[in-house]
Amino acid sequence: MIVLQHWATIIGCSSDVLPTSYLGLPLGCPRNSLALWKPIIDKLSLRLAGWKGKCLSLAGRITLAKSVLNNLPVYFLSLFQLPSKVADILNSAIAKFIWGPEKTRPIQWVKWESICRPKSSGGVEIVDLKVKNRSLLNKWVVRFGSEQNQLWHRVIVDKYGLDRTSLLPTGYNNTRSSWLWKNIACPLENQSNLLTQNLRLELGDGNRINFWEDFWTEVPSLKDAFPRMFSVAVKKCGKVVEFGCKADGVWSWNIELRRPLFTWEREVWDCFRSTLDRATKGLCSSDALVWKADVSGVYNPKSFCLIASSQGANTERVWNLIWQNIAPPKVEAFLWRAILGRIPTLSELAKRGVSVQNSGMCVLCSTEVESVSHLFCHCVFAWKVWQRWCNYWNISLPMPENLNLFEASWDAQVLKPSSKPVWRMAFYELVFGLNVVGQIRVFQSLSSYDFQICVVWLL
Ligand SMILES: [Zn+2]
Repeated sequence: MIVLQHWATIIGCSSDVLPTSYLGLPLGCPRNSLALWKPIIDKLSLRLAGWKGKCLSLAGRITLAKSVLNNLPVYFLSLFQLPSKVADILNSAIAKFIWGPEKTRPIQWVKWESICRPKSSGGVEIVDLKVKNRSLLNKWVVRFGSEQNQLWHRVIVDKYGLDRTSLLPTGYNNTRSSWLWKNIACPLENQSNLLTQNLRLELGDGNRINFWEDFWTEVPSLKDAFPRMFSVAVKKCGKVVEFGCKADGVWSWNIELRRPLFTWEREVWDCFRSTLDRATKGLCSSDALVWKADVSGVYNPKSFCLIASSQGANTERVWNLIWQNIAPPKVEAFLWRAILGRIPTLSELAKRGVSVQNSGMCVLCSTEVESVSHLFCHCVFAWKVWQRWCNYWNISLPMPENLNLFEASWDAQVLKPSSKPVWRMAFYELVFGLNVVGQIRVFQSLSSYDFQICVVWLL
């Protein structure tokens, strides 16, 4: 080591040991190791320090978590695939921060998949780092077709013997790939993932699309969808332009067959030709890669994250009613939880193993079990509050089944446009106020008289 340092000094360099970092990236770490991801884990932990969460409401913690996620160093995430264990550590740290960093194991009232959903689907749009990582890695796949003159493109093409003109880096030998490139290009190995399902090769001049293998028609590949036609065709590979020609915007096909078709094969042939004809309706002058999930047709990580987080979720109008910037963020966030049924009512706390007072009976009326629907809709005290407000407006509302339906019927009232914001805001404030009164009653043991005063104050 001393000799090494001596030699380094002679040529004006310094010496170091692996693992180290070079141009901001870790060098010499074992692949997929925790050491590789330590800088990201440390940065996230530092920014989500417990004291910050203690000073903030749920809405504030959600905003801070989003800000921290947006400012993570993306060069890490856009090159290396996040190992599952590291993604779980990071996602878990964010979830803990959102649901109360002051405790070691806070109750996570809404499951992780749900808070990652778009607001229109009942979530709050927290980004899952696995999804963000995939969305950034996908950029290399998509950029392959448009950066033919870049050094990285030439290196990948030469190293893996890829087709230089192809729009996508398909057809490489997986076993020879580096772990880094294998992780980047793995979605191309099957057609059932979000990237390949939303990418479409649009036919222009046919010089950059493989006729049999690529997914340029409505089927993933002609070779797999029409194996009989593939077996009788003379040419088994080549670009689209080698199977037909385009004149005045119309394609005429010239597909040579080894033998005349049998009668029963004619029907398959007709279907095959119809599939080809339907794929030539585009107006592109040259072959192009189109990202279907965005109106611009250009891939962007944000739209990938959006479709990934929307999978399996239903868009409901009630969620759009909540996030309208009418009420303060903490009130909107509370209403979101209340409509999901995920607020600490006595029945919800009991379900999660927390010991509750008064056998879980409502703190306002003490006659029924305290659930979300009871606390905000069916409770005799709550209903008095709602009725008194409606009486001011000469509006009669039937008692709703639950808070979700209540919100919808509240919003459906026909009012003057100038009165609508006040009417809408009242819903937020009364729901939030009823919860506050309930908490005061629990923690300060109000007498019946004081409690009546609270209800009057609410109005
Ligand atoms: Zn009650």
